[in-house]
Amino acid sequence: MSHAFAQRLDAVAPSATLAMTAKAAELRAAGRKIYGFGVGEPDFPTPEYVQQAAREAVAKSSHYTNVVGTPELRAAVCEATARDRGWTPSPDRVCVGVGAKHVLFNLALALFEAGDEVIIPAPYWVSYPEQVRLFGATPKIVETRAQDGWRLSAEALRAALTPRTKAIILCTPSNPSGAAYSAEELRALAEVLLGHDCFVIADEIYGELCYDGFEHHSLAKVAPELGERLVIVDGVSKTYAMTGWRIGWSISSAALAKQIAKVQGQSTTNPTAVAQAAAAAALVGPRDEVHRMRELFAARRRRMVEGLNAIPGVSCDMPRGAFYALPNVEGLYGIRHGDKLLASAADVSLWQLDVCGIAAVAGEPFGAPGHIRYSYAASESQIDEALTALRAAVLDAERA
Ligand code: PMP
Ligand code: GLU
Repeated sequence: MSHAFAQRLDAVAPSATLAMTAKAAELRAAGRKIYGFGVGEPDFPTPEYVQQAAREAVAKSSHYTNVVGTPELRAAVCEATARDRGWTPSPDRVCVGVGAKHVLFNLALALFEAGDEVIIPAPYWVSYPEQVRLFGATPKIVETRAQDGWRLSAEALRAALTPRTKAIILCTPSNPSGAAYSAEELRALAEVLLGHDCFVIADEIYGELCYDGFEHHSLAKVAPELGERLVIVDGVSKTYAMTGWRIGWSISSAALAKQIAKVQGQSTTNPTAVAQAAAAAALVGPRDEVHRMRELFAARRRRMVEGLNAIPGVSCDMPRGAFYALPNVEGLYGIRHGDKLLASAADVSLWQLDVCGIAAVAGEPFGAPGHIRYSYAASESQIDEALTALRAAVLDAERA
């Protein structure tokens, strides 16, 4: 059939995080009060100094830029990486894309093909396996457990590696679990990976968001011997409350950077010029807003986790980083919802949306059945109000 769609999308699911966001927006537009714990994006405005830099850039940014980022932004990425992550890349290794999601997409296009396996520890961010499938490769999901802090062990990693392993995608701190690896834990994984010829993609976009004194360690600092095989992914969306600006980057070998430039040169041409100027200003500007937002996230995290644990049938460990709580909700199975009994995290998430107006994403598409991801990028009063309503609904619920 000549007008059929390309089959490559048949294996790919739509983004579950964006689906819940759209649903919450629809209910809000219809007049319902909705608590938005669905989408993972800071609720803060972009800091004023960044907005000011963007206003100034408008007059100067009417033209195409360098395909993988302006020299100013690539230099700013290098400077911020040295300051925040303790290692210094050269600008020719930095490729700026239209958000970290796009950067990961570019990497998938440049690296993965049929026959490749890509190791992804579960729970994982929804887009990793779908991007792998899009290019005909196979996600090799490796389970981790809440009681191990949702962290992948060196033994589990070793057991998952095969001659077909093309890459591993490691997210620290993690979306959706908030798991983060200490330097020793990362080193143990790196020791295994040093013995296996594959790419190592470390998504460190939540690196600035760690709490209670836990420190983020960049894999590039912990295991520089991974060398040309290591790719760090990062961006301004989370740290600087800049999700809508769509700026992220990879730091890879110069050889891989050339491949990414080829991809981008035939697709986006360049990320938006004004957004690049704003991102450069964010990266090298004052740090107080970043610290203030982190403090607020830290307080919200406590509120969210304590509030969830106060609900009978819900249990949640304190995550080390990011802005997500991932409680087990299996204790709510059996609650009656219309003519159905709750029997999955997806059922629980629809029930709480219906009964309490709480939007949060069910764990199944994150590889975390039995769990729901609550983004705590919302005010403490919203968190308190929503969890009080949820607790009351659980205590009141009719059960099988
Ligand atoms: N990686 C992870 C783990 C994320 O949570 C996100 C946010 N959705 C991204 C990458 C992409 O971020 P962005 O495209 O906004 O830079
Ligand atoms: N990282 C966010 C999330 O997981 C943004 C939505 C998305 O890109 O998936 O909710």
